[in-house]
Amino acid sequence: TGNAKQHADIDHNKIRLQRSENLKPLIPNKDLVFGRAFTDHMLTIEWKVEQGWFDPIIQPYGKISLEPSAMVFHYSFECFEGLKAYKDKNGEIRLFRPDMNMQRFKRSAARITLPDFNEGELLECLKKLVRLEERWIPAERGFSLYIRPTLIGIQTTLGVGECSHALLFIICSPVGPYYKTGFSAVQLLATTDCVRAWPGGTGNAKIGGNYAPCVKPQLEAAEKGYQQNLWLFGDDDEITEVGTMNCFVHLKNEQGEKELVTPPLDGTILAGVTRDSILSLARSWNEFKVSERKITMLEVIKAQEEGRLLEMFGAGTACIVSPIKGIHYRGRDFNVPLDPNDTSRAAGPITKRFADILMGIQYGEIPHEWSVIV
Ligand code: PMP
Repeated sequence: TGNAKQHADIDHNKIRLQRSENLKPLIPNKDLVFGRAFTDHMLTIEWKVEQGWFDPIIQPYGKISLEPSAMVFHYSFECFEGLKAYKDKNGEIRLFRPDMNMQRFKRSAARITLPDFNEGELLECLKKLVRLEERWIPAERGFSLYIRPTLIGIQTTLGVGECSHALLFIICSPVGPYYKTGFSAVQLLATTDCVRAWPGGTGNAKIGGNYAPCVKPQLEAAEKGYQQNLWLFGDDDEITEVGTMNCFVHLKNEQGEKELVTPPLDGTILAGVTRDSILSLARSWNEFKVSERKITMLEVIKAQEEGRLLEMFGAGTACIVSPIKGIHYRGRDFNVPLDPNDTSRAAGPITKRFADILMGIQYGEIPHEWSVIV
């Protein structure tokens, strides 16, 4: 082992803290716009193939300087995560299942040959940053601090190959509730001319390259008055995701059983933390069948026409759940039921139930091992 190289892993005990000397004014909760404002500090950790991970640095939020030949600018060597820190009514800071984000971050990095790291150590670094930025976490329920870990390949070369130099950073942004005045159900455009992900592709990795190509179809949907794309795949138009959310369908199946269906993790779907949490809650209730299986537009439309479609919703960290009120599919508009007993027709009953429970857990009102005190 004499000349074996020492490849250092991330070590949170080695964090170097460079405090900002000009703290920014906080933004009033009512003025928060998703992802616009950033906190005072960021965490950066450099990696080089020869040495491994350098000491983490917490420093003032600011510009990073890269050469134009850095690989991230040419071949999309970029992956990221998205999670939130919540402040509970005792003033304690909480994260929701952050271990799942760390695991997914490692899988995304591996898919594009960016370096692996010790997920426990990175989580400790993240917690230290979040503690330092505590004043930015709004105390009001529904508000939170959105945390964006990012990993980029920064080796300066135009050659396509694995990166020998990478930069991990974490930035934070205070955010408001997705729904300011109760739920607002969305109308979807089932996109049939573009595909978000395909078997053998990268739909299950949270890499930047998956997102930019979805914006044009999103704008086209918006022009026609639809808030999100319903992403389909294959000759039989199987449902995959809604916008940047996982998709759930609650229906009475042809056998007459109530069933909650979400597409399986077959490589075309991002393994959402919210998705996993909803599946786990629904299975624990044991009130209806819960399935991770392929579901096509034909099945949904048939259920709708026969009055068996109960609810549909998207699921993700940003909104928890996003109720769906209709789908435009190949020239026709289909209504999706919301709560028949709710005059505001805001969201279906199980959609609301998932939202209430998950939010209760996130804000520490419902004790649960998923909520981790920082
Ligand atoms: N699908 C895609 C494509 C996403 O970008 C996200 C957001 N990360 C999700 C699903 C939902 O994942 P999560 O519940 O972990 O936020």
